[in-house]
Amino acid sequence: MIPYGKQQLDAADLAAVQEVLQSNWLTQGPKVPEFEQAIAIQCQAQFAVAVNSATSALHIACLALDVGPGDIVWTSPNSFVASANCALYCGAQVDFVDIDLANGNICCEALTAKLIHAKQTNTLPKVLIPVHFAGQSCDMAAIAALAKEYGFTVLEDASHAIGASYLNQPVGICAYADICVFSFHPVKIITSGEGGIATTNNPKLARKMQLLRSHGITAEPDELTEPSHGVWYYQQQSLGYNYRMTDIQAALAISQLTKLPRFVAERHQLAKWYDNAFAGNPHISPLQQQTYAYSSYHLYVVRLTNLSKTQHKDCIHFLRQQGIIGHLHYIPIYLQPYYKQLGFAAGHCPRAEQYYQQAVTLPLYPGLTTSEQQSVVDALQRFLEEKQ
Ligand SMILES: *Cc1c(COP(=O)(O)O)cnc(C)c1O
Repeated sequence: MIPYGKQQLDAADLAAVQEVLQSNWLTQGPKVPEFEQAIAIQCQAQFAVAVNSATSALHIACLALDVGPGDIVWTSPNSFVASANCALYCGAQVDFVDIDLANGNICCEALTAKLIHAKQTNTLPKVLIPVHFAGQSCDMAAIAALAKEYGFTVLEDASHAIGASYLNQPVGICAYADICVFSFHPVKIITSGEGGIATTNNPKLARKMQLLRSHGITAEPDELTEPSHGVWYYQQQSLGYNYRMTDIQAALAISQLTKLPRFVAERHQLAKWYDNAFAGNPHISPLQQQTYAYSSYHLYVVRLTNLSKTQHKDCIHFLRQQGIIGHLHYIPIYLQPYYKQLGFAAGHCPRAEQYYQQAVTLPLYPGLTTSEQQSVVDALQRFLEEKQ
């Protein structure tokens, strides 16, 4: 079986984890701040706040941005449900901006049109969560210009995009956003088992997120309310959670991070190989790469443009029969039963729906061999020939 993605761990990763397991600090030790420092350097951001998943990071990022009941948050329908759920956790309403078929990211023209309409109807979003689909950055300068014009803040869901860059700056630098979130789930570019992080250049947002990830508690003295206190003293300032990353996870992530440039370079080579293999076929469209973006290639997605809805489904089944785990990223979030029950219906984002009927994610991960890639290409081409 060839999976669509998988982690690559080496002896150094295992040794890093073992070292923590034999230390005094399984959690709340030195490895978490060490990892945060390493990510801040990687992303050229001032602060990084590590947590136990990107979902948790998105949640506390929304809270830090004061998202609450009465607020509206917009995101991409072509994403994992967590990109939208985080707004619902805060009691806000969520809505979706249609995508660009060529790259799967939020479409800036659709965003502009939706903003003009929202302004007229007094339903402007407080926060926009663009998702860097498959590891390719959205056009953040264009989004930031709209954010300024319409007065919303930007929270990047860069779960796919550690190691990617936009206009030659690392994703996560927060030049065009207030907060940027990454995931370290094993299927992503680097892994900590489970884990996530939020980068920001705003000390107040960093502080808020640091409190929220650990019950809203700080051990710092409060001179006003507690002039004299003992070593046991701590205070809860807000209603936080236990979203902490462990030192075991952080140690794995630190070790993985050293391999990030190599992983991304290898993903590019593999993607290029697929691109060449599909170059002559007008019915297989790989995601278009924009000149402003250097993708981390979390996913390799093609659109199969001359298949019916049923044939598209059959194709993914056929690949599985051949031992190739093709996947489909993503079912438009608002077509999930939970979101339909909130009032969303088919037709809301027509291009995201068209995309969903055409896209197939093919295997891509460091260590994928040329003969495995060849068997993926052969199987796909065989299906396309035979169905005619
Ligand atoms: C994986 C993913 C998440 C959630 O990440 P976790 O670390 O598993 O919580 C959120 N958004 C997107 C776009 C993702 O791909």
